[in-house]
Amino acid sequence: MRHRETKTSQSKCSGVFVSFFILERVIFMKSVPDYFGSKVFDNRVMKARLSPDVYNSLKQTIKQGKKLDSGLADSVASAMKDWAVENGATHFTHWFQPLTGITAEKHDSFIAPAPDGRVIMDFSGKELIKGEPDASSFPSGGLRATFEARGYTAWDPTSFAFIKGKTLCIPTAFCSYGGEALDKKTPLLRSMEALNKQALRILRLFGNDSVKRVVPSVGPEQEYFLVDREMYEKRKDLIYTGRTLFGAKPPKGQEMDDHYFGAIKPRVAAYMEELNEELWKLGILAKTEHNEVAPAQHELAPIYTTSNLATDQNQLTMEIMQKVAARHGLVCLLHEKPFAGVNGSGKHNNWSLSTDTGVNLLSPGDTPYENAQFLLLLCAVIQAVDDYQGLLRASIATAGNDHRLGANEAPPAVVSMFLGQELTGVLEAIETDKPYFGIEKRKIKLGVDILPRFVRDTTDRNRTSPFAFTGNKFEFRMLGSSNSIACANIMLNAAVAESLKMYADILEDSPDFKTELHELIKTVIRSHKRIIFNGNGYDESWIDEATNKRGLLNLRTTPDAMAELLKKKNMDMLTSQGVFSEAELRSRYEIMLDNYCKTVCIEAQTMSDMVRKQILPAVESYAADTAAAASAKKLLDEDISCCYERKLVRKLSSLVDCIDERTDSLDAVTAKLKTISDITKQAMFIRDELLPKMSQLRAAADEAEIMTAETYWPFPGYGDLLFGVK
Ligand code: ADP
Ligand code: MG
Repeated sequence: MRHRETKTSQSKCSGVFVSFFILERVIFMKSVPDYFGSKVFDNRVMKARLSPDVYNSLKQTIKQGKKLDSGLADSVASAMKDWAVENGATHFTHWFQPLTGITAEKHDSFIAPAPDGRVIMDFSGKELIKGEPDASSFPSGGLRATFEARGYTAWDPTSFAFIKGKTLCIPTAFCSYGGEALDKKTPLLRSMEALNKQALRILRLFGNDSVKRVVPSVGPEQEYFLVDREMYEKRKDLIYTGRTLFGAKPPKGQEMDDHYFGAIKPRVAAYMEELNEELWKLGILAKTEHNEVAPAQHELAPIYTTSNLATDQNQLTMEIMQKVAARHGLVCLLHEKPFAGVNGSGKHNNWSLSTDTGVNLLSPGDTPYENAQFLLLLCAVIQAVDDYQGLLRASIATAGNDHRLGANEAPPAVVSMFLGQELTGVLEAIETDKPYFGIEKRKIKLGVDILPRFVRDTTDRNRTSPFAFTGNKFEFRMLGSSNSIACANIMLNAAVAESLKMYADILEDSPDFKTELHELIKTVIRSHKRIIFNGNGYDESWIDEATNKRGLLNLRTTPDAMAELLKKKNMDMLTSQGVFSEAELRSRYEIMLDNYCKTVCIEAQTMSDMVRKQILPAVESYAADTAAAASAKKLLDEDISCCYERKLVRKLSSLVDCIDERTDSLDAVTAKLKTISDITKQAMFIRDELLPKMSQLRAAADEAEIMTAETYWPFPGYGDLLFGVK
């Protein structure tokens, strides 16, 4: 009931539409299983609507990642169109993920002229399989000259088509005519293929012949902030940049920890309820929701699925989070650091390896053999994270995420791995041939002994680690809340595939598998244990130890991290695994840095604009009014001292001068930035010159906010934003 009231009062639509909307929601409110996935052309729908032959071929294609027989495409397209039209769709789009990090779509209607002058709804196999968006405005990082504007999109049948609004969305990969990937999905699919290939080689060595496919499974936990829309609209920084560029600390922040897992406020609860319904209709298994550490911060976690599906679904989730917020008079902020002084938002990428037979390969097994296999896979991840720590760091680098990493609220910028005492103990015992006390004080013999179960409790105590083993999966915690999870998973899949390839090459040729395996695991532990760290990642001494004693990378900013993409060792791995070509990597380097530069440049310009048009005039008029009040008092009585006014006006005047000077200085640096053409130099210049100027200006403006009467301040402050949603 409360829900309906919220809906009606918030909606500005006509009565008819509102009634329809309520009716629709009442129907949907009946039972989740009834409407779950109702907007998805999933297995259930396919089975019901396709002939058994077509259905079986399509299933094979999906299961084994094979190409779809073009002869079948017409039948699939026709069934898909009928289903979509019955469910209210009038248009279709190839839905893809260009390198901007968001999703793109270009809608075409199903209508086709009929001989009698009317129209029919039509959709061919050709239209399903391939699209040709005019994509000249999507970034290609030099991969595609603008005169060859066309790229093409190709259906990814492993991700189900779905209906959004009145449009049938067909998940696709996006490539140039030369075949280079212009999106995030293509390399992700390639990395999954690479991983599958190498993981199968390893499973075969352990006598496992029944598994036909190994896929990475991913469950991304998404953090976000909700703020009131009216307040949001008063802040140009939020509108233009997604984060606050100014804002004095309110008297209360997150120090009481009273928001974390606290009771959810009614407006937020109504939002979450509708968000869940929308996601469920799209077959997204939104499962957990709770308040996060910072006030106004929340989290949503889905149940994990295959990594390319998880990527598509996470993109959709972010989009729907924002849409639903708008219906509730709210704005969902996905920026990594919307507010200084309180925690930013991340995205924990839970990752594991599953087989088509339903086994989680990162779960210690029940037999000695399974355990040996588990340890080898564990080693593969350890080595991958150590060898390609730079790539993992680069995969999550953005201007926004730079504010989070290493700020004692998120993992440090140094990549390390947490395994927990128990598992670390087992590895040490194997490495040194010493007894492991967990297993009846015996030495561990791989292939003979059964390992203890690593329950979540003993493995997940450390929240400061960038990459933590949590019992039967790893949690990569460095991702920013607005990041597409594609990049991190591409690097992770590729790096693990590389370790597995190395192991398979050694073990396949070995005359004595068991001995060779034991030696291999020992060697890997010995060479890569430097990446394992179970202590407090926020500790200053850790950074010192990591960089000076262990030789780990500390890539603090995006420009530092991006250079990793072009390092020979990293390029060699990614190209030999068939995940990226060299040209594709160079294009990504350009695009990521370009994005960094543009983001910060817009922030600098927004700061200058807000200062000149809003902050300085506000402080000036407060100072002038205060001075006028003092003069008025003096007129009444010459002897009144006006100490308070004098002090305040003096302080405000000097702040105004300081702000003005710092704004000039920021503008000068921004102007100089625009004269630099090389993208690498631009990024370095931003890191070294522009960002410090922005911090200096902010400090002075925030001080002015503290000194200025609330009624004069031109936009809502931190207290209003963080505590404004009831
Ligand atoms: P926490 O917030 O304590 O890390 P949650 O339960 O909120 O834990 O999130 C755990 C996430 O990990 C969920 O998205 C869940 O589906 C996912 N997950 C669980 N098992 C696996 C697995 N085998 N592979 C990938 N993700 C997994
Ligand atoms: Mg987590």
